[in-house]
Amino acid sequence: MSRWRYYLPILGYHRVGSSKGDHVPTVSEESFERQLAFLAREQYRVLSAEELATCIDQGAPWPRRSVAITFDDGYEETYTIAWPRLKRFGFPATVFITPSEVGLQGFATWSQVCEMGQDGMVIGCHTMHHSYLPTVPRERLQEEVVESKRIIEQQVGQPIRFISYPVGGFSSHVQAAIRAAGYGAAFTTNRLSPVRGIDRFALRRIKVTDRDRNPWLFRAKLSGYYDLFRQLKDPS
Ligand SMILES: [Zn+2]
Repeated sequence: MSRWRYYLPILGYHRVGSSKGDHVPTVSEESFERQLAFLAREQYRVLSAEELATCIDQGAPWPRRSVAITFDDGYEETYTIAWPRLKRFGFPATVFITPSEVGLQGFATWSQVCEMGQDGMVIGCHTMHHSYLPTVPRERLQEEVVESKRIIEQQVGQPIRFISYPVGGFSSHVQAAIRAAGYGAAFTTNRLSPVRGIDRFALRRIKVTDRDRNPWLFRAKLSGYYDLFRQLKDPS
């Protein structure tokens, strides 16, 4: 069976809407709409984080032509712009939030997070303070990954099973802490991992930016060839 049968593009969005000029990867409303329309037209199956975890649990290959959609940071636009469009297309998604940033200017509020959670969006954790975990002292790691999980669970009234590493940063002791905290899977960036196969505590994502306005680039990222290109360019 071709290894491409096993390729699952996990899209990693940050902000959807207009750029605030702050280096946060941003996809315009129009590009986002076009990307969702493309997935629908090409009959992609959009997996929820739970379906993804189930595939890993069962050791099953990803369903053909599948994709997953995630958002980091919990910007207000995830609620105002992305969420209504995802619902219209019937696509599941996951948003990773940082409790210390919820309700700050530009970020979704707890009531918006709860509304999304009750309406099918999977809510995940993005640490307590958006910290780069490999350099966090061990005694503070509990707050970043355990206390943050507890606060989100208390606010949304649902178990939190997924985490994404700020800036994709993790190490083996971070992964051990994530596992001990009871998470079912963890998401990183598209950094190249020396680990072959699937590491459920380092699921790689494809960063989507406004460069992906170019439909061919978006298509290439979904196909797995982009990933192959990165590996050829920078073999690990
Ligand atoms: Zn982040």
